Amino acid sequence: MILPKIVIAIDGHSSCGKSTIAKALAVRFGYVFIDSGAMYRAVTLFALRNNLIANGKVDEQKLISLIPQINIEFRYNSEKQKSDTYLNWENVEDEIRQLPVSQNVSPVATIAEVRAAMVRLQQAMGKNKGIVMDGRDIGTVVFPEAELKLFVTASAEIRAQRRFDELTANGESVSYAEILQNVQERDRIDSTREASPLRKADDALILDNSNMTREEQMAWVTERVMERLG
Ligand code: C5P
Repeated sequence: MILPKIVIAIDGHSSCGKSTIAKALAVRFGYVFIDSGAMYRAVTLFALRNNLIANGKVDEQKLISLIPQINIEFRYNSEKQKSDTYLNWENVEDEIRQLPVSQNVSPVATIAEVRAAMVRLQQAMGKNKGIVMDGRDIGTVVFPEAELKLFVTASAEIRAQRRFDELTANGESVSYAEILQNVQERDRIDSTREASPLRKADDALILDNSNMTREEQMAWVTERVMERLG
């Protein structure tokens, strides 16, 4: 039996495991996985490299004027079995995950023109369905017609601890307090910004994974997808 292809939109707070769920669903159902946060991170790296951010303040007009010079794509890395993010034909996957980008990405993502450019790209990527995209505005703005919308969350302390474990495992020297502050600050900016603030779509299902194992979580989301596929 050939199953229909749907769009799965996964939104929620920073570092609550949205990408982990999205990646696993993409593998399970043979879907394309798109990490929309990586796109905002790549724009932020571009801004940092062009000295358009000083003390957390973004030179918005300059950045907006340079948007046509920003090319973002994902290329599959068969060794890692996942896609890497490319900024102007350079693999920036590792650099966009580091703290300088994390600390500056939310202000960049408040810029309406940046969002409009990213949303256009994201909608083009999803036009044939069979896609799982995670972010903050996927169910509300990018794919308001998505067949399945999830809103994922967990307490800020649990999210910071997970992020801390991930970064220190990669050999980065960061403090838990610094990470917690970054998580809380990103929540604040993402939820209160004017352009497409983070909010649950009315028809999204809430998944609070504070006290769930990865296996429990996967079983729950897989069941939700199967329901939608009929
Ligand atoms: O998902 P991730 O934490 O990597 O996203 C980085 C940042 O990009 C978020 O903190 C948020 O400010 C922004 N973002 C957004 N809209 C999306 C995805 C990410 O504003 N769809």
